[in-house]
Amino acid sequence: MVPLKNSPGSPVFYDPRGRRWRHVRRTYLALGIVATAVTAIFIASVLSAPFLPRYDLRPLKNLPHPADLKPQPRAVLPNAREVKAKKEQAELQKAYLQTPRVPGRHPELMQVAPPANAPLPAPASFGAKQLSIGFYIDWDESSYSSLERNLNRLDWLMPQWAHLVTPDKPGDRSIADDLTNADSEAEHDQALKALNLIRQKRPQLPIIPIVQNLSNEKWEKDVLAKAVADENSRQALITAISNFVEQNKFAGVCIDFEETLPETHANLLRFMQELHAAFQPRGWLVVQSVPFDDQQWHYKDYAAASDYLLLMAYDEHYAGKEAGSIASQGWYESLLSKRMNELNPAKTIIALGSYGYDWTEGKNAQEISFQEAVIHANESEAQIEWDSATRNPHYEYDEEDESHHIVWFLDAVTAFNQMRAASGYHPAGFALWRMGSEDPSLWSVFGTDEANPSPESLRKMSYGYEVDFEGTGELLKVQASPHEGERGISVDANTGFISSESYDNKKIPTSYVIERTGDHPGWIALTFDDGPDPKWTPRILDILKQENVPATFFVMGKNGQAYPDLLRREVNEGHEIGNHTFTHPNLGEIPGRVTDLELNATQRLIESITGRSTVLFRPPYFGDAEADRPEEVEPAIRARDLGYIMVGLRIDPGDWKLGANPDEIVQKTIERAEDTNPETRGQVILLHDSGGDREARGGAHSL
Ligand SMILES: [Zn+2]
Repeated sequence: MVPLKNSPGSPVFYDPRGRRWRHVRRTYLALGIVATAVTAIFIASVLSAPFLPRYDLRPLKNLPHPADLKPQPRAVLPNAREVKAKKEQAELQKAYLQTPRVPGRHPELMQVAPPANAPLPAPASFGAKQLSIGFYIDWDESSYSSLERNLNRLDWLMPQWAHLVTPDKPGDRSIADDLTNADSEAEHDQALKALNLIRQKRPQLPIIPIVQNLSNEKWEKDVLAKAVADENSRQALITAISNFVEQNKFAGVCIDFEETLPETHANLLRFMQELHAAFQPRGWLVVQSVPFDDQQWHYKDYAAASDYLLLMAYDEHYAGKEAGSIASQGWYESLLSKRMNELNPAKTIIALGSYGYDWTEGKNAQEISFQEAVIHANESEAQIEWDSATRNPHYEYDEEDESHHIVWFLDAVTAFNQMRAASGYHPAGFALWRMGSEDPSLWSVFGTDEANPSPESLRKMSYGYEVDFEGTGELLKVQASPHEGERGISVDANTGFISSESYDNKKIPTSYVIERTGDHPGWIALTFDDGPDPKWTPRILDILKQENVPATFFVMGKNGQAYPDLLRREVNEGHEIGNHTFTHPNLGEIPGRVTDLELNATQRLIESITGRSTVLFRPPYFGDAEADRPEEVEPAIRARDLGYIMVGLRIDPGDWKLGANPDEIVQKTIERAEDTNPETRGQVILLHDSGGDREARGGAHSL
């Protein structure tokens, strides 16, 4: 990126290195300012600043090979090029006449569709089919993937969307929720995305959000004690929860207060009674989740103060405890029998786990997903064993640092046995903790219409919810498509339980594999998306020229067509051109063949104007463009098949957001670039050289 003098063949996509970073930073400050369109005075002051560095660079040894990145000029006659460009555009236009044109949208910023007006379904009546309930969380994208894949299997969704806060002064809200004021922007986006999905695809699905006393991964006993301490605080909490339910047209609430102090129970029970009394006349459900077995909890009293008690039937061994089964069949059956002796099964929901823990000496165990558990067993060449005493799978392995690890997990087979053991009691339903960490095969027995699903379907293992990345760097290429796997099971013909299962590392399902390349620590690349634009592109080009810094412009075909001179100037001044589609659609929302046309029309246009073609591609709207979920990989495969390299954007300082300020943009960039972890370090910086749309769309236009 920073030019290497007297080195004409060198690539311009990357930026060398270490000690020059300080200089690049200053140039970047200037660019950030222009891109954010803050003030012309600022630009003038920075440009005229005498301390701006001149580059005086030595050539570096290990540059990427030019052929990797540099578009190769093609010897095509100008006329023929123009003809081709016109033809591709006509094709694209024709395709859009036949395909409903979905305006490009950043999924997280889409308007949440208004709740359906139809009345909510009545609480389920209990025939043969039990309720199937999914817990949803915002802090892992795999939860959204599972929701998308399994939405039609759910009777209720329980999203982890709210937690207690201590009000600063009387009248302040006593809960915080992810839909309005999440702790992190990413969680807020995930919550809106999930709500949107449900409102569009299954508007009648009852949503029963969980309210917890959990904050920063800690159960807040004292915050809870205060929140239910007296009549005033309890009523304030009930009002806050009622508003949350009413505003979003939820079907009720699930109260999940854990690690309760013994002295809090009397007040908590009073709170549940008051909440239930407030919710009942409005037709809202009250569910309370409770530990599977804790003598401090008076189960019968709590059951009387809610519509449903939800028994959390997992964590027999957990992170702060010694390694062991997470829900052994014997432990589960004996506690279930104990609870069912005192509770009405028709008002009881059993929550099953599908996740694992990885224990190692001297550290708190790590919670892992099913997918992580089996992939890790494969990678560390460990053999997954079925423990016949507990009927839970487990394995052990040694890390390169010689630490010894013990992994126990729950899968679709353990869930099948647990559901089978509970079926005799006819509980109201089963809940899954949690969507995204589960064994995907679970859905062949969970949330099906069959009263007694056959265990045979569990032999097939479906691939997981995460994409596998290999290598480091921000140039991305899809290497492999998903494969299903299989496992062995033995079914006891007398009891119908699965008596054992066997895993074969060679038959473990695999997801998409994406290879990362182009990692060059200490280098950075400047990229500008969405242009060219008559207002901003010339100013940015002036600065780049003055500082002798090449960049990559991911152009929109439409804009390139409108401003061909700017496109030519970019190329003439030594910059790279990349393909950012012709009309900037969300590629996740259009058919694959239209994606092809979007890319081809842009490519032909670039060729006809500049006489060069490009191998670089960046899809609009895809977060960091890295396709974290299998559902996002399809456009990447299309692009690969057309010969493109996808370029990520780890460093997104958010210049497209309204009110972005240059200092923050620079600060964010420096933080990401100075990260020393190759798994997260950013080298490719995303900026925008087209600003008009940004203002017009009120921030909805991004990436
Ligand atoms: Zn864009």
